[in-house]
Amino acid sequence: GKWVYTFGDGKAEGRSEMRDLLGGKGANLAEMANLGLPVPPGFTIPTSVCTYFYAHDKSYPKELQSQVEKALDHVGKLTGKVFGDTTNPLLVSVRSGARASMPGMMDTVLNLGLNDQTVEALAELSGDRRFAYDSYRRFITMYSDVVLGFEHHHFEEILDTFKDSQGYTLDTDLSADDWVELVGKYKDAVAREIGKEFPQDPYDQLWGAIGAVFSSWMNARAVTYRKLHDIPESWGTAVNVQAMVFGNMGETSATGVAFTRNPSTGESKLYGEFLINAQGEDVVAGIRTPQDITEDARKESGSDKASMESAMPEAFKELTRIYTQLEKHYRDMQDMEFTVERGKLWMLQTRGGKRTAKAALRIAVELANEGLISKKEAVTRIDPASLDQLLHPTIDPNAKRDVIATGLPASPGAASGEIVFSSDEAAKLQGDGRKVILVRIETSPEDIHGMHAAEGILTTRGGMTSHAAVVARGMGKPCVSGCGTIRVDYGRGTMSIGSRTFKTGDVITIDGSLGQVLAGRMPMIEPELSGEFGTLMTWADQVRKIGVRVNGDTPDDARTAIKFGAEGIGLCRTEHMFFEETRIRTVREMILSEDEQSRRAALAKLLPMQRADFVELFEIMKGLPVTIRLLDPPLHEFLPHTHAEVEEVARAMNTDPRRLADRARELSEFNPMLGFRGCRIAIAYPEIAEMQARAIFEAAVEAQKRTGKAVGLEVMVPLIATKAELDLVKARIDATAQAVMRDTNTKLAYQVGTMIELPRACLLAAEIAQSAEFFSFGTNDLTQTTYGISRDDAASFLGPYVAKGILQVDPFIALDQEGVGELVKIGVARGRKTRPQLKVGICGEHGGDPASVAFCHQIGLDYVSCSPYRVPIARLAAAQAAL
Ligand code: ADP
Ligand code: MG
Ligand code: MG
Repeated sequence: GKWVYTFGDGKAEGRSEMRDLLGGKGANLAEMANLGLPVPPGFTIPTSVCTYFYAHDKSYPKELQSQVEKALDHVGKLTGKVFGDTTNPLLVSVRSGARASMPGMMDTVLNLGLNDQTVEALAELSGDRRFAYDSYRRFITMYSDVVLGFEHHHFEEILDTFKDSQGYTLDTDLSADDWVELVGKYKDAVAREIGKEFPQDPYDQLWGAIGAVFSSWMNARAVTYRKLHDIPESWGTAVNVQAMVFGNMGETSATGVAFTRNPSTGESKLYGEFLINAQGEDVVAGIRTPQDITEDARKESGSDKASMESAMPEAFKELTRIYTQLEKHYRDMQDMEFTVERGKLWMLQTRGGKRTAKAALRIAVELANEGLISKKEAVTRIDPASLDQLLHPTIDPNAKRDVIATGLPASPGAASGEIVFSSDEAAKLQGDGRKVILVRIETSPEDIHGMHAAEGILTTRGGMTSHAAVVARGMGKPCVSGCGTIRVDYGRGTMSIGSRTFKTGDVITIDGSLGQVLAGRMPMIEPELSGEFGTLMTWADQVRKIGVRVNGDTPDDARTAIKFGAEGIGLCRTEHMFFEETRIRTVREMILSEDEQSRRAALAKLLPMQRADFVELFEIMKGLPVTIRLLDPPLHEFLPHTHAEVEEVARAMNTDPRRLADRARELSEFNPMLGFRGCRIAIAYPEIAEMQARAIFEAAVEAQKRTGKAVGLEVMVPLIATKAELDLVKARIDATAQAVMRDTNTKLAYQVGTMIELPRACLLAAEIAQSAEFFSFGTNDLTQTTYGISRDDAASFLGPYVAKGILQVDPFIALDQEGVGELVKIGVARGRKTRPQLKVGICGEHGGDPASVAFCHQIGLDYVSCSPYRVPIARLAAAQAAL
């Protein structure tokens, strides 16, 4: 087998496409060599050897040793040196490199091949004894740390003691003789610690380092990192062995890192840092403050240290030529590592640079404008989920975080405020101009006013689709949910985590993007929607095939959604319009009425409120489709809970509070999710559906009159299991529409459709489509009913399910394509068989999840509908699905 791939001197056995085999670093070193760039020669031991290593009890393929020795000879020829030679020694670095860049793997070992003889040769050849011993002590330190497990800090301590004894402050104060003395002390310390001498044979050193790289693939840090980032264990790592070039050969040598564009802003300007007379890790380690690369950057930072541009103009010119070439070649922003040895520039690494969401947008748009990539490609370059970062305030990344607890990242963005434990308190304090974080065990519709008033919401119970999470996302407010380690004591007005206790009025910050709760106030960075954002979204819209609508219940939602490019409302949940404090009382009256007459009295009070809401919504949406769902309240959420609430409703209804309490008890359910809800309410109390239909149609007439534009009206009946249900409710709706049209002498166009959110409805979609003019898949409920899992109770066991690998992801976050998705496919196919033009959408929380959007595109849905702040994410995800 072939176990070694060489590179150097303008050619290589590998290429950048061979990343799986050679790892990212190895593949790109080969590519740079092929491009004729100055890369120190070397070779890559591929990931296949790592696989072999673990499959064969940590041993190597038998040809490996001879292939490595041959490759070393080859590298020796290219450099004019010999590995292990005592007069002209080749020194190498040993570097790990997996397919995906992976912190947690073994650190690089530099200067390998040095021993008591070769160090003297190096001193001789370079004419610089201090440099030789500085390199040797670096090698002993690194090798001991990463291969022998004798930690770095031991050497630091020896060095510090030595400096103190000599009255030195800086490393540069040490003379050649000082380093010679220190090297002796280092070796003694290693021998004492590991019980044998520091390895002197260069081949022993090399195999020790190679073995350490492969072994580090299974170390705890690497295993954890792979878990967190879904990197399969089977990938393995490669090892790169490369001839050393020296950045520590005095004032004409240096080492540095550079990005071809600014990774935080995206600005098209070389950005980076370098250090004169230093080696590799010194830049990252922060031992000395690095210097700017360009003169522009130096002026901006106000640094008094020379830039690379002025200190090493030749090497800088070369770097400029190379980075421009690399960016053109890879057609993306590059993150590069380089070293200058006595004025000559060497490239040691290049890869696609990590960047913020903001930089990613600017870079993609500018690369397209420069003609390096197509607009379509620019669209694929942005991770849709990352757009969240741009739409919400975020915590200043430089600020220190005191994380007191971690829950679910339920709604992105960050906010600081005083703790309040009740919604009334939240509303009151907000009225006084204070900023608050609403902390609840869980939230219910009665908390809407508190959630509105709060800067952010924290709950200790409930998952990603709990009430708090859904409502917060809809409002665009940060929310951390299901933070189970926090104990809330409403009575005392405290929340505690372990031994730490916070009380009402204490300031905390929540980071809804990470699910973190932090002590104190944090500095924030406000979002700015740059021009590139708009440009990229336009490009996305040009390729997108499916529509993107918004789940919006209020005029605010609608306005936000229009700003973010929504093409209509896919779900207006009318019960959310009732959550407001004054209305909830009337809704309670309606629900608790014992006869039709008193119910109609309550409905009469609600009608004008609903109508006014709809008029405003229709006006904002200017003729775009608006899907209004009839009432689907989880009834229990509307029932009065406290004694005071019962009294209040009784007074309004003029009945005996005890009787009312009995009625409320009667209506309370064991299993509200599967209880008296959805169209079941319209079936039992048709007058409720009738009132809503009247409000809708009268509002449409009014809006039509005001705007001169027809309303794109779609009336949606929830939780249908049978065609008969739909027929009954549809008859009421149609009759009401006829009546309104007759009374107002206006013509209205509208459609009546249904939400498909029960497995039975999917199966009987052919029949239901005889009456339904559109379908909208309510995938939240469909997931609950398919799995038989209540999303409000799922948090306690879904965690272990995901941890044990039974579920890959929470099915309430990413649509379960195999199961729930199959039902959706069946529903679409059967529905369209009856009605080929049937309009089909999805309006669950999944509508804003990129993977789920891609699925909706594949199965031919007409649109997805999601919460306002996810509209841009869905637009981009839909475009990527179409490419
Ligand atoms: P990481 O993956 O942590 O960046 P690298 O393998 O890239 O580790 O090595 C870190 C640094 O070590 C490089 O940026 C470079 O400065 C230095 N280095 C690695 N190999 C060599 C070499 N052959 N000659 C000089 N410096 C090297
Ligand atoms: Mg590197
Ligand atoms: Mg539903």
